[in-house]
Amino acid sequence: MLQCLEHGDVRELRLTSWTSRLVGYGVSVFITRDTLIDAGYPMAAAELARYVRAHPVAGVMLTHAHEDHSGGVPALLDLGLGVLCAAATESAMRAAEHVGWYRRLIWGSRRRLERALPPFTPNSALRLRAAPGHSADHHVVWDAERGTVFGGDLFIGVKLRIAHYDEDVRGQIAVLREVASWQPSRFFCAHRGLLASPSEQLLAKANWIEEMVVRIEALVRRGWDDAAVRDEVLGPEDATGRWSFGAYSRLNFVRSVRSSMSGVPGATSEALQA
Ligand SMILES: [Zn+2]
Repeated sequence: MLQCLEHGDVRELRLTSWTSRLVGYGVSVFITRDTLIDAGYPMAAAELARYVRAHPVAGVMLTHAHEDHSGGVPALLDLGLGVLCAAATESAMRAAEHVGWYRRLIWGSRRRLERALPPFTPNSALRLRAAPGHSADHHVVWDAERGTVFGGDLFIGVKLRIAHYDEDVRGQIAVLREVASWQPSRFFCAHRGLLASPSEQLLAKANWIEEMVVRIEALVRRGWDDAAVRDEVLGPEDATGRWSFGAYSRLNFVRSVRSSMSGVPGATSEALQA
């Protein structure tokens, strides 16, 4: 299902499918300055391509390679569109997909990118800015003239207690503070849409993560194991942690913090691969 929401000069296309609605998920792509920002998920690709054929854009910019943001790329390439994304995002799209069944069930299976990406030069007001943490290749699109951020998955929620195994939770603090320092008047989140007060919400998230990091570090240094730290600081796993078999979990949040500490057991990225 594709729902169209108008925000003045920005059009939001909210994409959902019955499987994503079942778990309360959806993802939005945005059109601004003739540019499509993100490409949605594989199961929505045909519907998005139909929309773009009827409402042409000049090209596509991608925030990151996760399947719910880049899954529509092959169908958009079939329309002859060019794509601007980070080199790391392109590499990730060319790699084989390693995601659990729950993600394939919700979003569909991403087709591995096998073609060259035709280049796309967007309006010069739109800039791709590195914003790593959620994933190593994560970027936001910044329109300084209009004070508008297209934030991909930078925000999602203030007190987000779950993390993917390869997230850098601590690294998100500085990125959130930096984007807040731009003092955007608008921030479009791919999962939450338009934020009501972007700088405050980004800073609230940075502060909350920082508070969790301090508490987690203190317990890790006292020798607590990850599950005990999780239960004490974040609480036991919620439904998402359970149905994803731990792939999106509170335990990963703790493991990410531990892996970025020095001088404690498990302070390597290998700890996140469990
Ligand atoms: Zn993502």
